[in-house]
Amino acid sequence: MYWQEEIETLNRAQLEALQLKRLQETVARVAACVPHYQQEFARRSFRPDALRSLSDVRRLPFTTSADLRAAYPAGLLAVPLDNTLRLHTSSGTTGKPKAIFFSRQDIENAAELCARSFVMTGVTRQDVFQNMMTYGLFTGALMTHYGAEKVGCLVIPAGPGNSERQLMLMKDFRTTVVHVTPSYALYFADFLEKKGIEPRRDLALRRAFVGAEPYTEETRLKIEEGLQLSVFNSYGLSEMNGPGIAFECEQRQGMHVWEDHFLIEIIDPATGEPLPDGETGELVMTTLCREAMPLLRYRTRDITSVIPEPCACGRTHRRLNRIKGRSDDMLIVRGVNIYPQQIERVLMSIRGIGRNYLIRLDGLDEMTVQVELAAGGFNGEFEQLMSLQTRIAERLRAEILIKPRVELVQPATLPVAEGKAKRVVDNRRL
Ligand code: AMP
Ligand code: ZN
Repeated sequence: MYWQEEIETLNRAQLEALQLKRLQETVARVAACVPHYQQEFARRSFRPDALRSLSDVRRLPFTTSADLRAAYPAGLLAVPLDNTLRLHTSSGTTGKPKAIFFSRQDIENAAELCARSFVMTGVTRQDVFQNMMTYGLFTGALMTHYGAEKVGCLVIPAGPGNSERQLMLMKDFRTTVVHVTPSYALYFADFLEKKGIEPRRDLALRRAFVGAEPYTEETRLKIEEGLQLSVFNSYGLSEMNGPGIAFECEQRQGMHVWEDHFLIEIIDPATGEPLPDGETGELVMTTLCREAMPLLRYRTRDITSVIPEPCACGRTHRRLNRIKGRSDDMLIVRGVNIYPQQIERVLMSIRGIGRNYLIRLDGLDEMTVQVELAAGGFNGEFEQLMSLQTRIAERLRAEILIKPRVELVQPATLPVAEGKAKRVVDNRRL
């Protein structure tokens, strides 16, 4: 099923021709009215008419999150403030957020791409869409809300948290699709288990759109098992609209990036050099249709690779592999580079432990992994508990090369985030 079949199946040559035309327009526009880019272009003696092919994109400057912060509140606008309609911010952890502005057309486009993404998973106007993402400055809920309305779904703007109410809505309105973070999905699966709810028997859930934070294939399986539905990976970032920029189709083997709206590159994060399709590096994106705040070569910090093979669904827009993590999430512990996702992958594949965990770093590189026991708690022998703990530590050592301390804690005792989960607490004095 397609939302815009013609665009979704454009052949590569047509798609690239469209990209080039839109890139040239975007560059001409920022050269005319965004002082930040005017200065960058002047510094490298770049003239917009020098942009003749898509590979010339490499002559353009990168834009970083530091540039966005420096431009706060409204420094990167390409239209008068009057022509903007909506402000969102990106989930920065400290300091000023990144402010992202949308024009009426930008919001319309973002909603269209969400609609395209949803229909690609098999959603129709018969579906009931319960949006369990945070409504507010975060783009995650609002953009998908508009997209699902475009498709004609019944949309329930539930927001996150309050699991009792979520369940009531799901039952009473026969929710078929949820949009949720992986951490809340895992928590909610535990909640249903505790309530004795058998999703396949008691609910109408068919699909979950899961995103907003990195998660592993093992976590996908846990969510699918717990909620008894199909999980579709949903990737986005506020700087590029928010959700609906890369999404899994019914094949669920990588996420199609809507290349008529975004030009993607994969670079070596250390050198900035381009990497070929199939190689893993940092995703860099250029907006091709953005009116209010076009961004050139935005460094997402997200680590992934492009899947070069065509997809069985017939769409020609290339796919991204699951995001491995963010380059700034990488932990260096005793000289070893570790992504929290490596730890998650191990934990999610061990039976007998629950779905919530926390990585703590103390002192001079002491790593502790706190893991909840499976719902229902542990009522076996002390020896069994010790052997579970040892097994987890050994499996972690095999994956991350250092052996952390493992602390097993009672179910539902670790903090649960309403928005994005905080999985790492770094108390080190470095
Ligand atoms: P925000 O701009 O606050 O929406 O945050 C965007 C960031 O969330 C991205 O740059 C990614 O690091 C992360 N993210 C969003 N969706 C996914 C996903 N499906 N898989 C992995 N990371 C994701
Ligand atoms: Zn596909």
